[in-house]
Amino acid sequence: MAKAEVIVIGAGVVGCSIAYHLAKLGCRDVTVLERDYIGSGSTGVCAGGIRQQFSTEINITLSMESVKFFERFEDQIGHPADFRRHGYLILATDEGEMESFRRNVALQRSLGLDVRIISPQEVKKLVPQLNVEDVLGAAYCPTDGYADPHSVVQGFAGAARELGVRIHQETEVTGIDVKRGRVAGVSTTKGKFYAPIVVNAAGPYAAQIGKMAGLDIPVRPSKRHIFATEPIFSTQDPAPMVIDFHNGFWFRREGPCIIFGMRNPDEPEGFDKTVDWDFLADSLAQAACHRLPFIADVGIMRGQAGLHSDTLDYHAILGPVPEVEGFYLACGFSGHGFMHSPAVGRLMAELILQGKTSMDISPLRIERFKLGRYTKEGYFI
Ligand SMILES: Cc1cc2nc3c(=O)[nH]c(=O)nc-3n(C[C@H](O)[C@H](O)[C@H](O)COP(=O)(O)OP(=O)(O)OC[C@H]3O[C@@H](n4cnc5c(N)ncnc54)[C@H](O)[C@@H]3O)c2cc1C
Repeated sequence: MAKAEVIVIGAGVVGCSIAYHLAKLGCRDVTVLERDYIGSGSTGVCAGGIRQQFSTEINITLSMESVKFFERFEDQIGHPADFRRHGYLILATDEGEMESFRRNVALQRSLGLDVRIISPQEVKKLVPQLNVEDVLGAAYCPTDGYADPHSVVQGFAGAARELGVRIHQETEVTGIDVKRGRVAGVSTTKGKFYAPIVVNAAGPYAAQIGKMAGLDIPVRPSKRHIFATEPIFSTQDPAPMVIDFHNGFWFRREGPCIIFGMRNPDEPEGFDKTVDWDFLADSLAQAACHRLPFIADVGIMRGQAGLHSDTLDYHAILGPVPEVEGFYLACGFSGHGFMHSPAVGRLMAELILQGKTSMDISPLRIERFKLGRYTKEGYFI
């Protein structure tokens, strides 16, 4: 029989950040349970993008808080994050998009973010290889960037362990023990673990974990791809992450290669992670060759697919569930979990240990769906 003060389900970047921040705030009796191995879920296939450009105050603030952490990651964690502030460029191709970019930029600037609308000529200066024929303008934030997901998750996990956190890999949670409306612990493939507090950080599997406690958690898995070209650059010049807003095509430099992807609007919900090469050959290749014409002559070195955990409003679900005391949610990140992981870890630890948070995250509680009180994130890729 194993006992802990807090059990975290899932050793992705979110679970490991929560465990680290719990221990940092003084809770040394934390156990993380992971079905496979650290970072083996969505975190391991993520593009590492970190942007502060969102359409809602809560997402912008979570990102700005997280960027502050990424900047001093190595000092805090003792492990590099490889954070590169190369900026994010979001391209608009119609007047409606320009209009919403102007509104979002005004909100972001009012929160202190260095972001601006730039002209197609300025876009071309930043990324000379881009076809800007149909581009009306772009939102550009030079302090956005990207980091290495493997370094970040291993950094959080290592620092958590140094503070006494136990991480059990190859330990699948198979049941949640609820007694008189209160969580008591979990059953796993390696036996029972007891704790009065359990955090569901199981990424795309958060709804399955919820079901074990008799709950309906509205988190839906949906497949996303990343393809990598063969090496094409000989220099390491900084280059921003670029997003074609109307179709979600994105790309960025990764060493001498380009990595890129795009959401597939026809992709059914589900846990399938096989690479869809037909999608690459059809819609994705068309979008890529339109925006980056030279890519038509470049070979593709590899493709990988992973899962987003999407919610109805493309915002995370953070906080306790009212039906089961001691059961907390940190899931539904809708493609933003890596970039938000530092702030989410700290805020969840504050909530669990102190019962209050240094930033208001109540709009992210699960009750919003029942109450019908939610606003969709406009920058959903
Ligand atoms: C192709 C792609 C690109 C992306 N790009 C970005 C990006 O640029 N920026 C960004 O911020 N986000 C991005 N994301 C999203 C990002 O990957 C996720 O939001 C983030 O990794 C979520 O972390 P997590 O810890 O919640 O989930 P995960 O990393 O999935 O971790 C959950 C863990 O729970 C474990 N688990 C599940 N069920 C059980 C169980 N029963 N028992 C025990 N353990 C269990 C899993 O094995 C897994 O390791 C991308 C996602 C994909 C797929």
